[in-house]
Amino acid sequence: MKLPFQKVLVTGGAGFIGSHVCEALLSRGIEVVVIDDFNDFYDPAIKEANIAAIRDRITLVRGDIRDAGLIEGLFSAHRFDAIIHLAARAGVRPSISDPKLYFTTNIDGTFNLLDACRHHGVKRFIFASSSSVYGINEKVPFAETDPVERTISPYAATKISGEHICSNYSHLFGIHCACLRFFTVYGPRQRPDLAISKFTRCIREGQPIDQYGDGSTARDYTYIEDIVEGVLAAAAYTEVSAFEIFNLGGSATTTLSELISLVEDAVGNKAIIRQLPDQQGDVPRTYADVSKAQRLLGYEPKTPIREGIRKYAAWQEASRD
Ligand code: NAD
Repeated sequence: MKLPFQKVLVTGGAGFIGSHVCEALLSRGIEVVVIDDFNDFYDPAIKEANIAAIRDRITLVRGDIRDAGLIEGLFSAHRFDAIIHLAARAGVRPSISDPKLYFTTNIDGTFNLLDACRHHGVKRFIFASSSSVYGINEKVPFAETDPVERTISPYAATKISGEHICSNYSHLFGIHCACLRFFTVYGPRQRPDLAISKFTRCIREGQPIDQYGDGSTARDYTYIEDIVEGVLAAAAYTEVSAFEIFNLGGSATTTLSELISLVEDAVGNKAIIRQLPDQQGDVPRTYADVSKAQRLLGYEPKTPIREGIRKYAAWQEASRD
């Protein structure tokens, strides 16, 4: 895919998805500037390792997107053609214990970046939203036109707020904004707080795993390579409207029990399951209707869950200390 720009700011570029996006941009000859604060939501050494292989080919700014002065200075120092905004406090459950951190990072941070785009004439903005905005949506699969006013976690509220700021700035200042609702992304370098990461390690090592609920909750899992393709296609897309929302999912559902057996098959060991009650803020299921992304972006998720889990387990095994 030919990308119509030369220099891109990737926020959160040292994170799981961000580091893959940076690699994909570099491989297409795009100049990449990363801003990341390397916070300790999970071990910052993992973030350093995520970008170790590309460290010499990016401009790295260690800083916080909540710092409006820093963002202003960054936009004055560089002429960006596009912003891929992935930096955020991620995760539903921790957002319930510290909502303010989520609101300031995810909402104020997004505002700072869009406002800098406004003042510096940057016309292309990609925002990492989330399937969590759908809350307890009865209708499946979830379409971009479904109602989203019933979010059930602070994290989800910050993501829908971010979409609204994008809509405002797109309408008022002509910034092309694409809000991408990612559905549970997994693959190499996945955040260690996510279930697939914990399950794979624990089942391999014969440690018990925590299963919240009876195993019937279901998720639409998306392999990282598919997400990266979707992000790049959205960044390249400027037709029709200056504001678009796209679901990026695998377009299939897997129950928690099915996921556990897929991990068991991949690592060749049986899970020891510790069953716990459902967790607050967790939605019962997610399932993406990706027809809009297919139609407008040519998005086609290619990695089925069984294959993706196998690849992830192999990567985790190979990267163990
Ligand atoms: P991640 O935590 O690995 O990456 C986020 C990065 O942002 C981290 O490197 C972190 O240090 C950085 N960051 C956080 N706060 C910052 C701040 N104030 N200033 C500068 N940098 C900051 O998470 P990820 O899984 O790669 O997620 C990337 C984006 O995608 C996030 O916006 C997340 O909400 C969204 N998302 C992820 C998933 C998923 O399943 N992984 C699903 C839906 C949406």
